[in-house]
Amino acid sequence: MKKIPLPYFNQRKADIDMLVIHCQAFDETQSLQILHDVQLSAHYMIGLNGKIYQLVEDKYRAWHTKTGASYWKNVEDINSRSIGIEICSPSLGQKQYTKNQIHSILRLCKALTKKHHIKKQNVVGHSDICPNRKPDPGKAFPWKYFARQGIGFWYNINDAKKVQETDEGKMLSEIGYNVADLTAAKWAFCKRFLPDVIPTDNVGTLIDNPIPKNAAELMQGSNISEVLKAVFYKYNKVP
Ligand SMILES: [Zn+2]
Repeated sequence: MKKIPLPYFNQRKADIDMLVIHCQAFDETQSLQILHDVQLSAHYMIGLNGKIYQLVEDKYRAWHTKTGASYWKNVEDINSRSIGIEICSPSLGQKQYTKNQIHSILRLCKALTKKHHIKKQNVVGHSDICPNRKPDPGKAFPWKYFARQGIGFWYNINDAKKVQETDEGKMLSEIGYNVADLTAAKWAFCKRFLPDVIPTDNVGTLIDNPIPKNAAELMQGSNISEVLKAVFYKYNKVP
């Protein structure tokens, strides 16, 4: 791991209990330049070839999500309680991450969740905490594989029938999502748990318009209600 300290951080106002995965559509040199330009940061960055960089020490509050515009389980200051990992991905998470990157991210996630006792339910993507603004880490982030490796959690579709609840907003909200914009919350949920529903888009479109106009239509043709129930069931069972 290489240290490239960035000065964009301050003191945390809460203990660490979340891990947030991001991606940027640039290589490490460009990503660092952009972080300097906008005076933002993350704790770690994963390069195109899987090299791990530490930009901010864990104990500090890195600036990787926008306070007031981020939300998870009633908390808006996500920076104070999270570790942020930025991955270099030219397709902005539309095309598969490289083997080396997956290997490095997994190794880093395992070390961080263990060190800071971060629960599986609190490992999220940027799109989970900013559903109507952010597309990253994209539909190609292998959440299912990560869950098998002990990072985050996945569902068993057979569990759907054990759930009586039918209110999608209520289930999404209990999982952690901001449901003020229900379509956006459901779209973020699909990026995470039903990636086949998400079309491949170009980077510009994803940044300017993270939710396509036909999102509701695309989700209607999917089995999102069953998957949501199954995830909701598992969410309440994960230790
Ligand atoms: Zn991000």
